[in-house]
Amino acid sequence: MLNLERVKITHEDPAERLKGFTLEPVRGYTDEEAVAEASRCLGCNICTQACPASLDIGAYIRNVSVGDPAETVRIIFETLPFPAVIGRVCTHMCEDICVLFDTGGPLAIRHLKRYAADKFDDYSKIIDVPRRKFINKRVAVIGGGPAGLTAAYYLSIQGVKVTVFEKLPALGGFMKTGIPRYRLPQDVLDKEIGFILSHGVEVRLNTEVGRDISFEEIMNTYDAVFLAVGNQKPRMTGTPGSDAPNVVHATEFLRRVSFGERPDVGENVVIIGGGFTANDASRTSLRLGAKNVYIMYRRREVDRPGYPSLNADEEMEESLEEGVHYIWEVTPFEYVKENGRVVKVRYWQNEMVMEGRGRAKPVPKKDKVLEIKADYVIEATGQETDYSFMGEKYMRQLRLTPQGQPILDMYGMTSIPGVFSGGDSTNTNRDLISAVRDADISVVGILRYLNVMDQVVEEKLPIVDRWKKYSPTIAKNAYAERSR
Ligand SMILES: Cc1cc2nc3c(=O)[nH]c(=O)nc-3n(C[C@H](O)[C@H](O)[C@H](O)COP(=O)(O)OP(=O)(O)OC[C@H]3O[C@@H](n4cnc5c(N)ncnc54)[C@H](O)[C@@H]3O)c2cc1C
Ligand code: SF4
Repeated sequence: MLNLERVKITHEDPAERLKGFTLEPVRGYTDEEAVAEASRCLGCNICTQACPASLDIGAYIRNVSVGDPAETVRIIFETLPFPAVIGRVCTHMCEDICVLFDTGGPLAIRHLKRYAADKFDDYSKIIDVPRRKFINKRVAVIGGGPAGLTAAYYLSIQGVKVTVFEKLPALGGFMKTGIPRYRLPQDVLDKEIGFILSHGVEVRLNTEVGRDISFEEIMNTYDAVFLAVGNQKPRMTGTPGSDAPNVVHATEFLRRVSFGERPDVGENVVIIGGGFTANDASRTSLRLGAKNVYIMYRRREVDRPGYPSLNADEEMEESLEEGVHYIWEVTPFEYVKENGRVVKVRYWQNEMVMEGRGRAKPVPKKDKVLEIKADYVIEATGQETDYSFMGEKYMRQLRLTPQGQPILDMYGMTSIPGVFSGGDSTNTNRDLISAVRDADISVVGILRYLNVMDQVVEEKLPIVDRWKKYSPTIAKNAYAERSR
């Protein structure tokens, strides 16, 4: 008989997780568990509408249920070259609209993707990509994060010569420097990046465009350019006291830890912000030995970035299990220093005030000053994109939206002919799977721009908007409705 209950996902003991940086909080499914969970799927494929990369979810789940994880991975590779990464850290909006949500729980789509991908140490044994002849076109990809690497993969397999310019000493973008190793192990990253590079992608590490090579030179050398520079420039609050050495931006903090540094955070860590980055900074601080970790956010719990979604709830649940404290609706206004170092944070409680039909606004109640001890302050208050690497001439040509993102045509091309853009610098979802989607769109755009569509292997082109147009709000609305 069909069992509609979701197969339980086992979590490691939080105390064990906190002992190091590598134990994943969630254990993978066994073969039996994966087949049982996949067998619940009805194959309706409603979920595909919520997947930015338009994966054929029903088909790949069906292949898990019949014991063919290799076919699952092959289907995923139609649009996404990171099944094991995405199988761990995807925002999995597909699960928020799964028709089984209220009938035993949404299908564990993300988990089943991880299960299938983890079955193979080397994808070249199951994915047959014929080596194409060089088609006499060269593309420069600026930025070696998920957007840049996805574009590099799908262009290379069409015979385009791709060079990835990356300013850091390692590839991966925020997959490497933001998301901590306990959520995304290094060997998983190495496996997937290694497979992409094996298709002849050239990589120039430690090469910052705008410093080590000019954008002008790239424009003169390559037939097209894909900007995948992310949203990397830290935005600090400027709170009085933030010039102290024990105040850092979360992305800098996480990058240092990801490259092996172990900063002394002391006992009390205060994190300002409320999204992915704040959570990762808080749990990393606990692993560095902090005793009390507080996340301070200016709005209500339901207003936090990424909510409403199952992903945001799961993320918070894991943080709470590990002992992170949340302080909602507050405005920190001073980092109090002693001997040059911050020792406490002063803050006001906020009141949420509705203005018209918009979002409630946090208004601080300044009559009462509150304080919290702090040995280390981490600001997870967002980042922005820095286009100065392009130089003035090209910056003037790059048309941006009022929010500072490049204006694109339907194939991902910016206002500069031959320059395409995708990922965090370009979309508003700011997650991995949306970066992949942008790259998929630009790959087709670049091949069209290069006028080589008559030479491509059509079945190897990424498929965008399979069956139904992707909707960025459908999952959010479904989850909001469910949690009402
Ligand atoms: C802490 C944290 C946790 C996150 N957790 C999740 C999660 O769980 N799930 C999820 O889906 N998303 C998560 N995200 C978001 C996700 O990581 C991003 O959406 C994604 O990495 C964006 O990809 P990208 O390729 O656009 O840019 P990035 O990953 O930012 O990569 C851009 C790359 O470009 C390089 N670069 C920039 N300028 C230059 C230049 N001038 N020359 C050469 N190289 C340059 C940078 O060094 C970087 O490597 C998280 C982000 C952070 C910060
Ligand atoms: S919505 Fe749920 S049941 Fe339908 S195909 Fe997707 S995972 Fe399967």
